[in-house]
Amino acid sequence: MKARDINCVTIVGAGQAGVQVAQSLRKRGFEGRIAMLGDEGYPPYQRPPLSKAFLKGEMAEARLFFKPESFYAGQDIELQEASAVRFVDPAAGTVTTEDGGLYSWDRLVLTTGSTPIAIPVPGAELEGVRALRGLADAIAIRELLTDGAKLVVVGGGYIGLEVASAARQLGHEVTVIERMPRLLSRVTSPPVSDFYRKLHRDHGVDVRLEESVTAITGDARVSGVTLGSGEQLAADIVLVGIGVRPNQALAEAAGIRCEDGILVDAHCRTSNLAIYAAGDCARTDLGDGQTLRLESVHNALDQAERIAADIVGDPAPGYDPPWFWSDQYDVKLQTVGLFNDFDEIAIRGDVAARKFSALYFTDGQLIAIDAINDPVSFMSGKQLFKKGIRISKDEALAAPTLKDLTKAQPNKETAA
Ligand code: NAP
Repeated sequence: MKARDINCVTIVGAGQAGVQVAQSLRKRGFEGRIAMLGDEGYPPYQRPPLSKAFLKGEMAEARLFFKPESFYAGQDIELQEASAVRFVDPAAGTVTTEDGGLYSWDRLVLTTGSTPIAIPVPGAELEGVRALRGLADAIAIRELLTDGAKLVVVGGGYIGLEVASAARQLGHEVTVIERMPRLLSRVTSPPVSDFYRKLHRDHGVDVRLEESVTAITGDARVSGVTLGSGEQLAADIVLVGIGVRPNQALAEAAGIRCEDGILVDAHCRTSNLAIYAAGDCARTDLGDGQTLRLESVHNALDQAERIAADIVGDPAPGYDPPWFWSDQYDVKLQTVGLFNDFDEIAIRGDVAARKFSALYFTDGQLIAIDAINDPVSFMSGKQLFKKGIRISKDEALAAPTLKDLTKAQPNKETAA
């Protein structure tokens, strides 16, 4: 702990990133005041189970919370669960909450998250039309999923497909409407998208691709949707999962640079060096003219750790490759690395047996893996990318398992 002039850190947002900043500061020996301001009225909780086990009734609400509330008091972390911040004053070094609270800071951390995009069609305000972002949404959707309720999901991304999977397992009739020619188009490649289309169809989901919703119909409550083709579908619930927008209004009003996210450097410092941002709301300037905004648990944890290290004057944590996961039916997708720049794909394993990996290559080097029920490939990929071990396509396909490639290869390690 070297930065002795920093006595007070205020964290706006009590989600995955905010909680991790607070915990990591204490772990790294920060002894000053930590205030964490949430606006949902719950102790900090995990979001991933909301569209999976929680929705299916397999996980009780109490198990969602990261820690018992006594933990925060024990760590001397001042947690306000229902204190939405209205205004950041960088010159005064304060934030003001909607209920009139005033919190000062030497360093401010914005972990304000993201907000679901509303569907811009008539009827979007009807009862029974929901997005799934927070615990209150998940509780409401769970209550709507009563016996025989017909669900129409708009958007074939992670949220839409995880809710579709949970609802099918609860016995509901489910239709998924995706405007792109394939599912999960933002997060994976065509072969893996095809796998998920087949998986959902095999489980009885009516998957409509290259289709749109032009209106949601009903009197006060939703009763149907109108598709671009003119077809009418009956619906008791419409789940809208068409992406999110970063919550950057507080930062913009405070004069901080934002471009579809609060711009941050490698230490997660914003254009005001006393203010940091992490998680869904932050966009990293990679320094080569490129920027990257990731919506994932791993990114929230990684950025939070960088912020805590920077505040206390510790060296920045080493490179940790991005990872994601999604559970649908009995299929676990685990992704490591970023696949966007790939120019070649190879499949290892048995697609029909639902146990395989899609390997992504750029210029013949492995850059990312989508592992489907294949944790060994996922874990091996994490190790390879973390150590900066370069793997060619021939090596990746010839090895008995990807784990064999992780064994000491000192000459192949590069500076990660
Ligand atoms: P998403 O992954 O961005 O997917 C949204 C999908 O909806 C895209 O394919 C999008 O296509 C499509 N779409 C957009 N507008 C549409 C319209 N009007 N009609 C039909 N389809 C439309 O977002 P999401 O699934 O809503 O997820 C929200 C957030 O939760 C993301 O941050 C996600 O990463 C996170 N999340 C993650 C997990 C996980 O990691 N397992 C699970 C749940 C949620 P276009 O590309 O054409 O817009």
